[in-house]
Amino acid sequence: MVRFDIITIFPEIFDSYLKESIIARAVKKGLISVKAHNLRRWAKDRHKTADDKPFGGGIGMLMKVEPIYKAVAALKSKAQSANRKTRVILFSPRGKKFNQKTAYRFSKLDRLIMICGRYEGVDERVAKYVADEEISIGDYVLMGGEVPSMVVIEAVSRLIPGVLGKPQFLKERITKEKGFIEYPQYTRPEMFKGWRVPKVLLSGNHKKIEEWRKKHGKEIEG
Ligand code: SAH
Repeated sequence: MVRFDIITIFPEIFDSYLKESIIARAVKKGLISVKAHNLRRWAKDRHKTADDKPFGGGIGMLMKVEPIYKAVAALKSKAQSANRKTRVILFSPRGKKFNQKTAYRFSKLDRLIMICGRYEGVDERVAKYVADEEISIGDYVLMGGEVPSMVVIEAVSRLIPGVLGKPQFLKERITKEKGFIEYPQYTRPEMFKGWRVPKVLLSGNHKKIEEWRKKHGKEIEG
């Protein structure tokens, strides 16, 4: 069971996402839990301000350190037993690139607290003192950490036994201990608009099919 806690100023973004069939089923089965927390709950002033102007000047606003610090502290204190495996991540285009290996590592946690930046980014003290690690989902700049957190939830959840239904949905593609080959796939009809399914896949020759898949697939390191 991995518990995902998302700290965001836009918790509604997750409403429809969490109704998606596989995620919703995994939550119902108690395999994962996902909670989007509104950061403004921890903003102390009347206007629930979570952002402010950058010191030294510059365009845009930055997310303040204090509300984020309080949110993480409150969520951690709720974890009750201190020895539960918890990790706090901050999404940042400057972070370590998220990959399948990281997904495996996170799938072994009890709890993953994710901090979603917005605006021009986040006060650097969050990266330095509050988060355990900074994660980027790729070399491009998005508008917020909400989509990255969905990316992480999906990649991690499908590795948790039972989430994809039958275990072989995951295992059948596993060639090494954890890594696997992602290969091109086809379904009926055999011919559409003159576009044919590769003959080898119709041959029933498992060895040949395996070779074809290795040749045309891409190895994903696990
Ligand atoms: N100038 C800022 C960019 C802010 S983008 C900087 O260099 O950090 C606003 C927020 O979106 C970021 O704080 C981060 O939480 C999220 N974000 C944007 N691109 C991302 C990426 N590629 N991976 C992960 N998070 C990203």
